[in-house]
Amino acid sequence: MKQMIAARAYASGELKLETVDVPVPGPGEVLVRVACAGIAPGITKLLAKGRFRHLPTTLGHEIAGLVAEAGAGVDPALAGRRVRVSPSLTCGRCEYCLTGREPMCASTAMIGHAAFGTGPMPLYERYHDGGLAEYVRVPATHVDLLPDNVSFDVGAKLHDLGNAVRALRQTGMPASGRLVITAATGTMGTASIKFARFFGARELVLVGRSGARLEALRPLAGDLPVRTVALEDLPGWEDSGGLTRRLGELLPHGADAILDFFPSGPGTAQAMAALGTGGALVHMGGNTSMLPFSIRDMMHHCWRFVGTRSCTKEDTDLVLDLLASGQAAADDLITHRFPLSRLAEAMEATGSRKEPIWMAIVHPDAA
Ligand SMILES: [Zn+2]
Repeated sequence: MKQMIAARAYASGELKLETVDVPVPGPGEVLVRVACAGIAPGITKLLAKGRFRHLPTTLGHEIAGLVAEAGAGVDPALAGRRVRVSPSLTCGRCEYCLTGREPMCASTAMIGHAAFGTGPMPLYERYHDGGLAEYVRVPATHVDLLPDNVSFDVGAKLHDLGNAVRALRQTGMPASGRLVITAATGTMGTASIKFARFFGARELVLVGRSGARLEALRPLAGDLPVRTVALEDLPGWEDSGGLTRRLGELLPHGADAILDFFPSGPGTAQAMAALGTGGALVHMGGNTSMLPFSIRDMMHHCWRFVGTRSCTKEDTDLVLDLLASGQAAADDLITHRFPLSRLAEAMEATGSRKEPIWMAIVHPDAA
């Protein structure tokens, strides 16, 4: 049996590089030789929460590479093609799956990542092993061909780019959109800045902790005007409503939309209070705080609060179209590259964010 190196997560929370057998593709499956795998912060938190149902397991839900082998019943012409793997495992038959809302499926789980569903997840039983390895076995239905001008690095991050597009589409912004993005210096924030102009944004207000890290984001917005709000410059903002006030000064008519990626704290509620009439806040940060508004306030301002997670095939197809046509490029979002042998360092860098980090990837075959 051919063997490979893989990053294996254990119930203890430990992550080990181990030698395991290369999987063999069965009917309807392909074996992908991984060229690049993304790493996302939050993996260790999900591990601690018990969201990984099969342990030990190989991590890595953001995958791009070459099809090394096509199983029975799969078009043999797929062998040798450049692909990205769609990590979303859903039932394919429920009302959500059949209407382009597959992240809401009760069987939802992700290849190389956590299981989120409340129902049976038969696909996760077989495909829980991910792409932080030299090879990964996936359903042939879960690979998308990569256009020639899309690198493996960007292909691996397509899921996050799709998440940003999902959030942007949910805002229903008018074509002259005044858009606020919170936690703008992270992976989701930076991806959203890149694609905002295709979904109605005409000006951006970026919110983050550090003024220096916010300044570095300006080139990502292209020709969209950008203003920034550094929380470090608003002492005591948490208790004084300082973020609402500052956003109100910058946008006297209110924001048309807010993409909110705050993972905790009062920032979500304070940003929401800066919405203009008819505005929407789309939240994708997992904030456990409560919203302090009355239902009447929501009605009176015609506000919408939209909770959302993950992305649909339509979202990632939109991203691929924008990249393939040259209207958008995303290579500059990738700030950190690691060989698989330095995975521990990569996890520490993405988890601590001691230095600015937008997107990080791992190359399994790098020395
Ligand atoms: Zn379903």
